[in-house]
Amino acid sequence: MRKPMMAGNWKMNMNYHEAVVLTQELCNRVKRKDLDKVDVVICPPAISLRGALTVLDFDKTKISVGAQNVHWEDHGAFTGEISVPMLTDIGVEYCIVGHSERREMFAETDETVNLKVKALLDGKVKPIVCVGESLSIRDEGSAVSYVCAQVNAALAGLDDIDMANVTIAYEPIWAIGTGRTALPEQAQEICAAIRGQLRTMFGDEVADSTRILYGGSMKPANVEGLMAMEDIDGGLIGGASLISNDFKELIEVAAR
Ligand code: PEP
Repeated sequence: MRKPMMAGNWKMNMNYHEAVVLTQELCNRVKRKDLDKVDVVICPPAISLRGALTVLDFDKTKISVGAQNVHWEDHGAFTGEISVPMLTDIGVEYCIVGHSERREMFAETDETVNLKVKALLDGKVKPIVCVGESLSIRDEGSAVSYVCAQVNAALAGLDDIDMANVTIAYEPIWAIGTGRTALPEQAQEICAAIRGQLRTMFGDEVADSTRILYGGSMKPANVEGLMAMEDIDGGLIGGASLISNDFKELIEVAAR
């Protein structure tokens, strides 16, 4: 019922030329038939968004492009920022919002995440909204309530129509870039709770149709177990999305 999604978060990796090469490698390696079954998104650094799109357009490959961050205002004195109209102008379809690295290092809050989600939806860009707990919150036993509160805040003020374009990514902070993956059952527990939160906020139809991704050291060795979980509809992938063969393998598993 929910089409899987595999989204690659390249973070601050790959210069422009490397980004073009990696995009072309994906065009060559990912099977076209898998792209009918899985929505695949790559999120290069802002400077390479248009370059990646040009490669994909030229190759007629159905991989979408997403930004890693955006400002909620359309234009103005916000040095260093980029806006939603700037993304749509070059053909960007998705945008990651509220990644834990941005929350931790760039003072992103639940409130700014919500502003960004609303600006993206107004501008017809699809947000991939990241939530996830730290190890100390997990150890305290409050991961479920913490993550559900993040979902509640990020999606405040949205309606059912908005939600058709929203994807949630559950990314436990302790599993990002650490090589330490959540056990499939641990990830499932939180993804099921997120779906429950969506049910409370928006009702059954939205809860049953919204995609929830898992992110945190997803790689070929662990993808099958994670994708077998009922409430995990794909992945937000950092490290393994920089290796075209690994990302291709993750897409193949999601397409099964
Ligand atoms: C991420 O950055 O969103 C992520 C999940 O990274 P990694 O796959 O490297 O843990």
